[in-house]
Amino acid sequence: MSTESRNKTRTPQPHVALRQSSIKAAMHCPRLFLFRYLKGLVPRQFKGMNIGASGLGSWFHRLMEAGPSGVAEVDAEFVGQLRQIRQTIAEGSDLLGQHDYLADETETNYRKARAMAAVLWNEHPLSGRLDVLAREEHVSTTLELNGEQVPVEGTVDQIIMDRQSGCVYVGDFKTSSRDVEFTLTGYHYSVQCRLYRVLARQWMQDNEIPGWQDGPRGFILTIAQTPAIKYCSKDRDLDAYIERVSRWYQDKGTSAVRRFDIDYAEPLLPEDFRLVLTTAAAYASMPCNTFKVGAALFPRDLTGATCSTRWNRVCDYYPLCCSAVASWPHRINEAYDYQTEEDSG
Ligand code: SF4
Repeated sequence: MSTESRNKTRTPQPHVALRQSSIKAAMHCPRLFLFRYLKGLVPRQFKGMNIGASGLGSWFHRLMEAGPSGVAEVDAEFVGQLRQIRQTIAEGSDLLGQHDYLADETETNYRKARAMAAVLWNEHPLSGRLDVLAREEHVSTTLELNGEQVPVEGTVDQIIMDRQSGCVYVGDFKTSSRDVEFTLTGYHYSVQCRLYRVLARQWMQDNEIPGWQDGPRGFILTIAQTPAIKYCSKDRDLDAYIERVSRWYQDKGTSAVRRFDIDYAEPLLPEDFRLVLTTAAAYASMPCNTFKVGAALFPRDLTGATCSTRWNRVCDYYPLCCSAVASWPHRINEAYDYQTEEDSG
C-alpha cells in the first residue's frame, strides 16, 4: 500500500485520551467535545463542585467509594462546597436568587445521596462470596484502531472477584430518576459497560490476575432510584430521614433498587463500539488551534437533545453556542477556566 493510500485509512493519533464521557460527547455533540475535552474549558463558577440535582450521582458515588467509615470525611467535603455557594450569596452576587435555590437543591440531594448509600450498605450488601479487589481505580490503556494506538482511560468503580469461581466482574452503581428496569435497558451495549470491560481487563493484566487475557466475566450493576421524598420538618434528624427513605424503598420493592448481573457475551471490541471509538478518536485528533477552525469542524447538536439535561440544567457551553465565534475569547475570559490535568484528577 502506498504511503498516500495508507494515510487515507489511518486514524490520526489523538491528542487526548478518550474517556466514557468524551466518547459520549463525540457521539452526541462534537462541539461539546471541542469545548470540554479538546480545549478543556470549564465554567469558572463552582468549578469541580457537585452542585444541584446533577450532583446527586457524584455524591452517591463518593459515598459508596468512601464506605460507612468514610461518611464523616464526605460530610466535611459537602459542607465545604455548600459554604462556597452560600458565600457567593453573602457577597451579593446572586441577584436573581439562583444560587440560593442551587444551595437548597444541593443540600436536598446530598441528604438523598446519604440515605441511598445507607440503604445499600444496610439492606443490599454484596454476596459474601464476592470480594472487592479494587475501588475507584483509574486505569489507562491503548486500543488499536485502524493501525493506530488510541489512548483510553477511566475510573472503574469496583473490580470484584467471585471466590468460588475465580471469575472477575466489574462493579458499578447508578442512580436513576425512573424505575430501575428502564435504566438497565440497553446498558449491556452502552459505552460505559463496554469501556469498563476494556479498562478492567487492563487492570487485571497490570495486577497479574489469573485469566486476565479473557478479561472480566461480566458486570454487576446496582441501580437505585432517587427517593421521591425530601428531608423535611417531620424528620427529627438525618437518621430519621434515612429510616423514612428505607421504608420508601421497601414499599417500592425491586422497581426502586435492584442488582443486576450482565455476562459479557460479545468480543471485547464489537464492530459498533469500534466505530464509535474510531469516530471519537478522529475528533480527538482534529486541528482546533483557532476557534474559527474548531467551529467549522465540530458541529453543534442540531437536535438540541444534549443542550439541556434531565436534571433541568442547561449545557455549560450554551452561552458560547449562542454567540458569534469572534466573541468567544472574551466570553471565555469572563466565565471559563482552562482545566489542567491536576484539576481532572
Ligand atoms: S449547548 Fe448544545 S450544541 Fe452547544 S456544546 Fe452544549 S450540547 Fe453542544
